[in-house]
Amino acid sequence: MTPSLDDAVAHLPPDERYARASALRRMVTGRLAAAEAREASRPGRQPGYAKRCLSCGETKLAAEYRSNRTRADGLSSSCRPCMSATDRARREAARVTRSAA
Ligand SMILES: [Zn+2]
Repeated sequence: MTPSLDDAVAHLPPDERYARASALRRMVTGRLAAAEAREASRPGRQPGYAKRCLSCGETKLAAEYRSNRTRADGLSSSCRPCMSATDRARREAARVTRSAA
């Protein structure tokens, strides 16, 4: 469970709780806003952004890619159809492995 602001300030004397809770709330709100701004500023979020799929080599628009926060541009390196094909192949391989066991 996520600790609440009340929990975070419970150890403080009552007259200090409000100021401390306000400071914490400002900090959290600021960090959320900064994270959202970073996400919106990623190359993959800009209008008209297109890139080449690593699997099929075709150049496609950002909407043709799944999100991937670990990538610099915020998008997966392969397009949706290629990712689906990879997923399908992986499921099939797992199914074959299970039935052989
Ligand atoms: Zn592709």
